[in-house]
Amino acid sequence: MSFEALGLSSEVLKAVLEEGYETPTPIQQKAIPLVLTGKDVMASAQTGTGKTAGFTLPLLQKLSQTPRRSQGGGRKGSPPVRALILTPTRELAAQIAESVATYGKYLKFRSAVVFGGVSINPQISQLRKGVDILIATPGRLLDHAGQGTVDLSQLEVLVLDEADRMLDMGFIHDVKRVLALLPETEERQNLLFSATFSREIKQLAQRMLNDPQLVEVAPQNATADRIEQQVYRVDKARKRELLSKLIHDEQWQQVLVFTRTKHGANRLAEQLERDGLSAAAIHGNKSQGARTRALAGFKEGQIRVLVATDIAARGLDIDQLPNVVNFELPNVPEDYVHRIGRTARAGMSGKAVSLVCIDEDKLLRDIERLINRELPRVQIDGFEPDPSIKAEPIRQGRQGGGRNQRSGQGAGQGSGQGRGRGAQGRSGNSRSGATNAQPSGAQAANRSRRSRSRASSGRPA
Ligand code: AMP
Repeated sequence: MSFEALGLSSEVLKAVLEEGYETPTPIQQKAIPLVLTGKDVMASAQTGTGKTAGFTLPLLQKLSQTPRRSQGGGRKGSPPVRALILTPTRELAAQIAESVATYGKYLKFRSAVVFGGVSINPQISQLRKGVDILIATPGRLLDHAGQGTVDLSQLEVLVLDEADRMLDMGFIHDVKRVLALLPETEERQNLLFSATFSREIKQLAQRMLNDPQLVEVAPQNATADRIEQQVYRVDKARKRELLSKLIHDEQWQQVLVFTRTKHGANRLAEQLERDGLSAAAIHGNKSQGARTRALAGFKEGQIRVLVATDIAARGLDIDQLPNVVNFELPNVPEDYVHRIGRTARAGMSGKAVSLVCIDEDKLLRDIERLINRELPRVQIDGFEPDPSIKAEPIRQGRQGGGRNQRSGQGAGQGSGQGRGRGAQGRSGNSRSGATNAQPSGAQAANRSRRSRSRASSGRPA
């Protein structure tokens, strides 16, 4: 199937072709025609499946083809927003905003992105000018609503992205507060994307969707076939040594490593640096600026190892990431699927390695039960586990990366805790193909990522 067959307009098609996409991914094939009909959609799609374009392309087309419902200025002079894309993390918000600007470069619209951790004032100025598509994290959006600087009363389309993670991060009440600011469910089109459909997600769907069409592309909780997965048995105290050895011996150039806690991420990054590997940690306690810099350095190849907690890594869009390492297994088996989904994206293959000590046996069993297969074990000579070591309960760091905590990425999105300036405003305003004012280093990094991925996949630059 081609993109042309999906009913997309020439402006949207042109932008897609320029990105080098040749065929729509399965989620795009199913979701795009449905969204164009105006129906509500509930889609299960993991990150890396191309879901962002799955909702962005038809959304852009629909907005460009239908006149605004209301022309009048909203409260405090901010014209009403037409479409809202709600996401759990700042990184994801910035990345979606960038996709909106890219896919919509031949259309006439304004977009803006709002999230916490950066000054609210530039966001207010942008909203005052009028925004058709707003990408937001829930906390900061509610701050704007509280100050009357955003008007959602005429909203035409709502997209809730990564809904499962939104709930995991404790944003359910914020999401409900946002829903209360919108027109009635029947008066807007609603799209919900989630990697899994838990009971809570279904309850949320009942509240926010109107007779939704169900779209499922991959069997739930199945790990991508293209990912080569291995388990290395090793004692806890020797994990760092084994990791350094693997990176050196296997010559991994770009490795995303997961730890369970923020403290663990910092410590591991420092130790790897001492082993002579360029490494950086990325987690919710880092300023937005520090996170943006670390991510940009990683994408450009200056940082070889990025150590991340689950929450911080969620939504990172890194093309062709070859290696993911679970330095510690996640407490929740579903997070294993999310983690390894960072590799083998968009048709590429990848490798996911887990370093497992005796304390983690139960976690490993839970993961294998979830993905319904036994992971191959690898034993490296000299790293055999010491049989005299007994399993101990897994201790959580003070701000352990477990679920249902607001201490991670999302915390602080709400109230503009004044930390470093980061990717704020990255999508800028996009109007009739005018170049976006996208100043940050992350932008440049992204451009370089895109061109790298094109170069290596033979796409036109
Ligand atoms: P997503 O799941 O939306 O995070 O997308 C994952 C990656 O796939 C992004 O880097 C997109 O640029 C890329 N992508 C999306 N759609 C396509 C397509 N049809 N062909 C090739 N790459 C795509």
